[in-house]
Amino acid sequence: MRLPVLRTIPSHRSRPHDAEAREKCGVFGVWAHQSPARLAYSALVALQHRGQESAGIVATDGRVLERRAEMGLVSNAVPPPDLDTLDTHANSRPSIPGGAIGHNRYSTTGASASNNAQPFLGHFKGGQVAIGHNGNLVNARELRDELERAGHGFHTSSDTEAILQLLAHYSSDDGSQDPLASALARLRGAFSLVFLFSDRLEAARDPWGWRPLVVGRLPDGSPVVTSETVALDVIGAEFVREVEPGEIVTLSDDGVSSRRFADASAPLAHCIFEHVYFASPATRLFGQTVQMVRERFGERLAQEAPVENADLVIPMPDSGRSAATGFARASATPYREAIIPNRYVGRTFIKPTKEERATAVRLKLNIISELVEGQTCVVVDDSVVRGTTTRAKMDQLRAAGAREIHLRISCPPIRHPCFFGIDFAERTQLVAHERSVEEIRSLLGVDSLAYLSLDGMLDCVAMPSLGRENYCAACFSGTYPIEVPNGLSKESLTSC
Ligand code: 5GP
Ligand code: MG
Repeated sequence: MRLPVLRTIPSHRSRPHDAEAREKCGVFGVWAHQSPARLAYSALVALQHRGQESAGIVATDGRVLERRAEMGLVSNAVPPPDLDTLDTHANSRPSIPGGAIGHNRYSTTGASASNNAQPFLGHFKGGQVAIGHNGNLVNARELRDELERAGHGFHTSSDTEAILQLLAHYSSDDGSQDPLASALARLRGAFSLVFLFSDRLEAARDPWGWRPLVVGRLPDGSPVVTSETVALDVIGAEFVREVEPGEIVTLSDDGVSSRRFADASAPLAHCIFEHVYFASPATRLFGQTVQMVRERFGERLAQEAPVENADLVIPMPDSGRSAATGFARASATPYREAIIPNRYVGRTFIKPTKEERATAVRLKLNIISELVEGQTCVVVDDSVVRGTTTRAKMDQLRAAGAREIHLRISCPPIRHPCFFGIDFAERTQLVAHERSVEEIRSLLGVDSLAYLSLDGMLDCVAMPSLGRENYCAACFSGTYPIEVPNGLSKESLTSC
């Protein structure tokens, strides 16, 4: 069988398998809008917390795709002249506006490459296609081996390319009636996807519902899809519904339609870490507003691990604020912002010398010593991963005169790697790996340390319509909702 050739643009021969890259991304799509690229831009700005490494937008006029993608924030990746080009392109058919998709990519590593910027663009028998992916596949390697044996040449190290190659495969002459559904049915793992074809947009979510994906509608009726409801709010769209796990939603000149590529039998596995850290507090996620859930985490933590005679509760900005609010309220302790972050600091790990790195760490925040001097401080943060930045912050707090530091973390210890799209390090880089809470306490240099219990956390998210068993908490429990292939290591393929 002669398989269609798929070309991924820009063409990248190889990318060294990146030992650390784990990504969480944001996606957006709109159809039938006069300025789809500008709209995608605003949505990507609202989703910038989901990824800062690279960004891209692809627009169609109903016939041909046009792409812009670069490293950096969306403001850098797709500047105004590019937006104008994309929007002009999308309107080149008389009186029928086209559509666009956009993507933010996240990576915590310094070693990053513009050739991993999404959306990827490919060609297959059905024409052009662009793809934006949030999540991580656990069978990408297996699929890749199979497709390579069948004659497909791969251009990137990204697991997202396997999805395009599968689509090409099922679109071949003796292929399937519904190539996209057939391709998606082969995927295992986490994926919230937007595809832009020349004449339509298709959005799909994995059968386990790992990552969020929602449908919205603009006041003029144009349909949109995106990762988080904050993007809908920013562009003035109303929330319609979540894309169901296992569903494909199609946006085209004929309106919105839906079909399934997987039945609804898979047990749900919504990522609990979206609620802990990743999603915006203002997002309505898996049926609940993130801020409210995080406040409940903090309240529960105050009940589980109170601090006697605490003078103040200090939020670790920005990620600890919501839980700290709940902790302060539940423990009737004053909430004081004593740690002030510098929002304009760059990444610290690329600084060459030890002194520069030390300055860079100090650059990240200032402590208000009047608030902490001689005080018994409760510091609340959402999570500890490697422990390195937390240790540095605790040292600064101590240097500013804090008498006692009681660190409270609004999730359990992260002891297991995530294979579904969160960028936790290898097991051995996790500070909680094979360490007791007492050992971690001593390493972080605090007077006491407590984490929210897994039970407590699941109690806080459980609703009558969505029970605790519907969440993936594998990073805390080590129990993975689906089988993770033996020997799958964090560095096997890059993902998003
Ligand atoms: P650590 O002490 O582990 O170096 O850093 C802990 C901090 O990292 C916490 O404040 C937490 O909000 C933040 N954090 C948790 N997960 C992630 C992530 O995936 N990416 C980034 N950049 N920060 C994270
Ligand atoms: Mg943080």
